[in-house]
Formats: sequence, C-alpha cells, structure tokens
Amino acid sequence: MPYLILAGVLVFVIVLAIQYWYIVLPIALLVWAIAVAPRVIRHIRKNRYFSSDEFLARKDAIAAVVAEHNAIAGYTAEMRARGSFDIGASSTGSHAHLATYENTSRHGYRRDRNVAEFGASNVHNCSLQVVRNAATDPLKYVMKYFEIKPTEETLADVERLGDGIARLENAVANLQHRENQIVGSFNPPPFILRYYEDEFMSHVGVKLPEVRIPYPEYRFEYVSAGGNSSQRTSLSFNTPTIDALIEALSQKIKFSKSAAGQRALMTAKLREFIKRRDGYACKSCSVSVAAEPNLLLEVDHIVPVSRGGLSEVTNLQTLCWRCNRTKSNKVVAVNL
Ligand SMILES: [Zn+2]
Repeated sequence: MPYLILAGVLVFVIVLAIQYWYIVLPIALLVWAIAVAPRVIRHIRKNRYFSSDEFLARKDAIAAVVAEHNAIAGYTAEMRARGSFDIGASSTGSHAHLATYENTSRHGYRRDRNVAEFGASNVHNCSLQVVRNAATDPLKYVMKYFEIKPTEETLADVERLGDGIARLENAVANLQHRENQIVGSFNPPPFILRYYEDEFMSHVGVKLPEVRIPYPEYRFEYVSAGGNSSQRTSLSFNTPTIDALIEALSQKIKFSKSAAGQRALMTAKLREFIKRRDGYACKSCSVSVAAEPNLLLEVDHIVPVSRGGLSEVTNLQTLCWRCNRTKSNKVVAVNL
C-alpha cells in the first residue's frame, strides 16, 4: 500500500514537471551547475597545482627521501611475501571439503541466514558455551582448540610469528612517519589532501605500501541448528596477544622443567631492550637514530633461527633495515 501512494505521488510530480517545464528546467539547470561547477573548478586548480614550478621544485628536492621511502616499501613487501603468518589450526572442518552441504527445507524457510564456516582452519565450530568461555579465557581456549601445544617447537614458532608481525608493524609505522614528513614538507593546499591524496602521492612518486598487517585471527563460532542465530568470539594475534601467548606457553613449559623455560622470551619488551642496549644504532654499519631520526631499526638473530639460533640476549643484535635486508637475502640464497 505505501508503494502505491509513493508511485501516485511520483506520477503527479512528473506530470507537474512536464506541464511547467519552463520553470522546472531552469531550476534543474541551476541545481546541476551548483553541484557540478565546484568540482570542475577544483579539478582545474588541482592540475594547476601539480604542474606549478613550486610543486615540481619541491619534488626534485625531496627525490632522495621518496626513493628511500619506496625502498623500504619494497622491503616491507618482501617481508610480507617471505613470512608465514599463521599458527595452529582448528580440529573441526579439516575434512569438510569432502562433503556437500545443501539446504533442502521447503515452505520458503530461510534456514541459512547463518551458515557455519566448516571449511576454515581458523574457525572452530562449537557450542555456545565454548564461545562464551573462549571470550573469558581466550588464550587457554585458543591453545586447546587450535592445537597450540606447550612445546619448545611451538614456542619458537609463536616467537617467530611475533617477530614477523612486529617487524611489519615497525616498518609500516616507519613508512607512515616518512609519508607524513613528505606531505608536511610540501605543505599542499588543504583541498589537495582532502580530495586528491592518492593522486598527490603518485605525483610526488611515493609508492603507497600495503599497510594492513596480516594478523592471524582465530574464531570460536556457534551457529544454531536453524541457522537463525550465531555468536562468535574472535581473537586477533597482534603483538600484545602474541606476547601473552608466549608467556603462557613458557609458563607451561617451565612446569615441565624444559630448557626453553630458562631462556629469554622474544617479546616486544625484549626487542626494545636489545635496541636500547645497542644505543639505537646498527651493529653492522653503525648508523644510528641520533644521526638519522627516521632510521628503521630491526632486531636480528645473529645465528638465524633457521640454523638453530636461539632468542638469547647474546644471539640478538640491532641492525638497520639495509644491513638486515642484505643479511636475510644471503641467508635465503644459502638455504635455496
Ligand atoms: Zn646497518
């Protein structure tokens, strides 16, 4: 019924508009001009700005800074491509791909508003009670249902994951800082940043990196039999979560009196400790934050983990991204 009224009103308006076109047409043109003209003007101003001598001179002056930014962006992409950012898998659904699921209900029942994700290894399908408990005690439940066992190997894996995530976070933060400085040094008119930020970056020559960090995410999911309700608990493995998991695993291992319980744990705290110990300077080429405020520093295993190196304080050092990239390229080449 409301549709009928709406259609009636619409027809009435159209008839009126046709009858009084000599009034409606100029008004429509005016509205169109008001809506479109600012965009056209903005477009012309933008093109004028990007071809201005001031912009081009600034671009030349800052070329080296942009080149360095782009090199780090490339390095970040390498990290992303080489790293593996998952750990543990749910026991439910590991063979789900063998079966076919079909909703065969009649009478137009909408039974699949919520369909369980049986195939995903990062989703544990469970009862409502487990979803609730997982929200209260996430680490305990993630260890239990995603087969993250308190062993030294798992601990080393989680530490490696944490290291990879932290390096990416570190590099992305460094890049964002550099981008802000580049934009700041141009000080473009506000409308440029408001409407043409990406175009501005591409004119300057800045390659914008992928800034999303691939945090592994684990879910406990309950879907009711009718598919009408669904509840979930999600746990994202960011640095605080990974560090807490490292501590929890280490505590459990310590109980069984194994060697891993004795060593330092590769957490954000330890990484910061190493950088401070080394005076925020690269142990290989000696470049320091004091000399280069935007320097991207990383914590490196002197003997790589892949060759049995441990996360001991004595096996860790601070390297700048350039030296670390050279070193990890060599390690990759040797391992191939
Ligand atoms: Zn260096």
